[in-house]
Amino acid sequence: MDNKINIRGVYFNNVTFDEAVDTLITRLDNGEQTALYTPNSEIVQACIESPELFDIINSAEMIVPDGIGVIKAGRILGTPFKGGKVAGIEVGDAILSRVVGTEHTAFLLGGKPGVAETAREKIAEKYPGIKIVGVNDGYFKKEGDENAAVIEKINESGADVLFVCLGAPMQEKWIYNNRASMPSVMLMMGLGGSLDGYAGIAKRAPKIFIDLGLEWFYRLIKEPKRIGRMMSLPKFYFGTWKYKMKKMK
Ligand code: UDP
Repeated sequence: MDNKINIRGVYFNNVTFDEAVDTLITRLDNGEQTALYTPNSEIVQACIESPELFDIINSAEMIVPDGIGVIKAGRILGTPFKGGKVAGIEVGDAILSRVVGTEHTAFLLGGKPGVAETAREKIAEKYPGIKIVGVNDGYFKKEGDENAAVIEKINESGADVLFVCLGAPMQEKWIYNNRASMPSVMLMMGLGGSLDGYAGIAKRAPKIFIDLGLEWFYRLIKEPKRIGRMMSLPKFYFGTWKYKMKKMK
């Protein structure tokens, strides 16, 4: 896990998809508590603009580049990623496929009311025998009694794998603040809208968009309100060039 690539202050693991999944499963089997974060360039840019976020994002044991912007930055900075983009949603799915038939159990947290239940049904259809021992929507107060009740529910479920799908960077902050209160949860994954994906609410881009590195463009057409967030992409890109030039001087 020592092989890291520094992208503007966020320390990514330089891993292929398979290596990421294998490491997560090994740590889960060994009972080593692990957080998986899957930042894209929006999140790196958010760290640059709010530096207190760096500690939160860098606290995860496994940080994979989930975006073409981060992959490009790796090349620009002369430290290319060996595995290319590692999509969080696919890592989460691979984890599910690997825990079927084992003693591991999962809890799904996040999404609008009803989404996690539907996701649970779809996942059970896809992976018969999977043990999803609890779900909760993501619209609760992230502090105080309401938060404590959610943590208690997760702990009582006995799950050792937790999907945290609250959107970034809220999910990373939530994991950072609460992981110590969930000592038997060994793998916590910040996976954005992936429960929406399972529930069939948000379709991923067609393969051609993904292959061309244009998934962001597809999402923009589908959800034009993302434009504000997406403006961080050019900022990040040009900022990375500027950063590189400065370093070369
Ligand atoms: N969400 C949630 N609680 C909140 C805010 C958002 O559970 O307080 C959910 C929302 O319903 C959606 C996901 O978080 O399912 C965010 O999805 P998005 O695709 O925007 O993820 P991102 O791109 O931010 O990782």
